[in-house]
Amino acid sequence: MKIRLKHPLSIASASLAALFAAGIAVWVAAPYAVDDPMTALARQTPCRVWTDRNGRVLWNERTYDARWCFPVPLEKISPHVVRVILAAEDASFYRHAGVDYAAVCRALWQNLSSARRISGASTISMQLAGMALPPGPHDLKRKFLQAALARKMEKLHSKEEILTQYLNRIPFGGKICGIEAAARYYFGLPAARLNLAEAALLCGLPQKPNYLRPDRHLGRAKERRRIVLKLLTRRGKLTQEEARRILYREPLRLRDFRYRPAFEDAASPGELRHALAAVKGGGTRITIDRELHFRVLALLRARQQLLKEVSSGAALLVDNRTGEVLVYIGTLDFSAKPDGEVDVVRAVRSAGSTLKPFIYAEAISGGLLVNATKILDAPLRYGNYAPGNYDGRFHGRVTAGFALSHSLNTPAVRLTAKLGEERICETFRRAGLAGGRFGRKQSPGLSLALGTEGYSLWDITHAYAMLASGGVPVAFSLTPKSKGERPVRRCFPESVCLMISTMLRERPFGHGGLDVAWKTGTSNNNCDGWCFAYTPDYTLGVWFGNKNGRRAADLSGASAALPAACEIFELLYRDKTPPRWPDETKILELRELCAESGLTPGAFCPRRSRQTAIPGLPLAACTVCAPAPRRGLRILSPAPKQYLLPPGKSAVRLQLRADRRNVLWFLDGRPIGADLTEYEFPGNACCTLRAVERETDGSRAPE
Ligand SMILES: [Zn+2]
Repeated sequence: MKIRLKHPLSIASASLAALFAAGIAVWVAAPYAVDDPMTALARQTPCRVWTDRNGRVLWNERTYDARWCFPVPLEKISPHVVRVILAAEDASFYRHAGVDYAAVCRALWQNLSSARRISGASTISMQLAGMALPPGPHDLKRKFLQAALARKMEKLHSKEEILTQYLNRIPFGGKICGIEAAARYYFGLPAARLNLAEAALLCGLPQKPNYLRPDRHLGRAKERRRIVLKLLTRRGKLTQEEARRILYREPLRLRDFRYRPAFEDAASPGELRHALAAVKGGGTRITIDRELHFRVLALLRARQQLLKEVSSGAALLVDNRTGEVLVYIGTLDFSAKPDGEVDVVRAVRSAGSTLKPFIYAEAISGGLLVNATKILDAPLRYGNYAPGNYDGRFHGRVTAGFALSHSLNTPAVRLTAKLGEERICETFRRAGLAGGRFGRKQSPGLSLALGTEGYSLWDITHAYAMLASGGVPVAFSLTPKSKGERPVRRCFPESVCLMISTMLRERPFGHGGLDVAWKTGTSNNNCDGWCFAYTPDYTLGVWFGNKNGRRAADLSGASAALPAACEIFELLYRDKTPPRWPDETKILELRELCAESGLTPGAFCPRRSRQTAIPGLPLAACTVCAPAPRRGLRILSPAPKQYLLPPGKSAVRLQLRADRRNVLWFLDGRPIGADLTEYEFPGNACCTLRAVERETDGSRAPE
């Protein structure tokens, strides 16, 4: 049977009526059956824009699918854009609730009358809802779903919210998404500063973004703009005169596309990526000071150029009061192969002399010494271990302050031997220096005093920041912290830290006259040159060397890292009041000490002087001035143990030897002779042997 319809409108009406009749219930219920598309859209993350502590852009990180997308609020989008996009895409946007029924009817009529698809009748809300759907064919089913989603969205979100999301997501060709990225890419401007001519060009693109993109097909883009302007004049949004002016007289200020996109220029060099990689948590505003970071980077690069056979450097600068990292330079040669990308701030390297302050701090805490205590710098040997000094000289008896500030090796090794390796390991661990190779079972030996173990720049700087802030560890962070997050477990008393700081401030820090506590270090074979420096405000760690461990003959902490550290501190205090250290007289006490030894004086001490000491902490007594007490006599033979009788014998003959001459021998309290060389001990008995020389005696009991 054939039906003849006389008017195309009646075909559309019939179709619509049929559609509505069949699906009216579904249509009403549809928005309730779908999820809010904004939730799915929110999962499509935009570019991450990393900013520094002052809000300046550090790096624009592309989306996971390498798109450029910079969402901006509606007030940061030029009103021209809003005006043109509404006129071009959805003139009744503010009047419909997701679906423009008049447009749907018009589209049905157009499409049916011409028997092909001319108009999609998609509103801005429907287009936005479509972006939440996975890619698929643009058929009637998808259209229906988009409409349902758009209606759902309109129920839950304001028109402004929908328009903002739409403008921030529409494609503008290639990997450019959203009006802000498009404005910056095509015009080198933020979306807020687009004029009508530019807005008209951009708002025409989303229809066929890759076909119309002006950097490749300027003619097509301009033709499309002509159509958009015509549409605007037809809808009364623009006068004919203005449209003509834009088309024929106003120059189009497109960016020079031979250069990289404007937003890539803000991208960080590789050296900043280490800092970004170290960020924990979701924030993109980090504590780095962009200006300072790049100035320090330039400074390290300039210094590295002066060093022979040294290819890289690193630095970490921290604000002691908050623990916020201001500068994080993990490398100077990020793009170098094969190890440019290695982050030295986190890499474990030989620490050289940089750990000595913690050994001295432990010795001060244990009452072994104070700043003025004289300690010995002279050759020493423990088994095969015989450390010398960096300059190959020994200085004899020097104050602890001199020994530490001049980084003398033998006093530090003597202190380590005195305190015990275990105690030093525990001290390091307490200072947060467990990042080395202490995990192994074997003890590292006394050489741990000279930093033969490995630690990272991060960990050592962290330990110095603890000294700088009076013994309380400062948790380092690359994201701004709320106050009161500091752990309170103290490593050393404030007074001990201040005394160490005083010792480390004994030698001038460069030529600038800044009062900075500092310590350099050079690893074995000149592979690493370190300098750690701090004031109550900042702690800085600087490293120079080769990442592959190649040695550099002239590299040392003092020649490479110290000058760089001085320059960095001069930069930090250029417009600031000089560092203000805590008042020693309030934290330390003046005590009368032996002028010879710098220890608690005894009756024998001839001269005394007033020196700083740790309040309430007893200090070891002077042993230098008092006559040395005689050491006890020792029996060298026989050794105290069980001896077996030779077969058939009732006694055993053993050699008698003491460590002195003129010895009287006693067995079970009974004298057996003087200066004996051997004696026959009776069998099956436990006896006590004693040897006596003048008024001193020692005893051994062979069992
Ligand atoms: Zn004395």
